[in-house]
Amino acid sequence: MEKHRPDMPLKPAIWNGLRCKCPRCGQGPALHSYLKVRDACPSCDLDLTPQRADDGPPYLTILLVAHIMGVVLHLVYANMTPEPWMAAIGLTGFAVGLSLFLLPRMKGLIIAFQWAKGMGGFGRAS
Ligand SMILES: [Zn+2]
Repeated sequence: MEKHRPDMPLKPAIWNGLRCKCPRCGQGPALHSYLKVRDACPSCDLDLTPQRADDGPPYLTILLVAHIMGVVLHLVYANMTPEPWMAAIGLTGFAVGLSLFLLPRMKGLIIAFQWAKGMGGFGRAS
């Protein structure tokens, strides 16, 4: 892995990525149409085409949702005994909603990490 460059700070980039913003300026949106990556940041004109998020965002989303659902299932069945159809509908709705909420944020996170570490195609630009 390429050595960290101080002009690409990791922590602010990750925070910006979790907000689905440009990893460099944090102002312009990095995504459009839910999950599509913009060609460039509308605010600072950072070229976002070198990103290679690929299967990373769904992998992280599944990892997080599965662990959260494990805790939620435990809490639900430890504190109440819902009807099976109610549990199925409620927990499925929660899992789907959580997945849809986390997926673009995980994509922003991966793009920001790649940008800050010069990974994917970001390392070749400078
Ligand atoms: Zn920007």
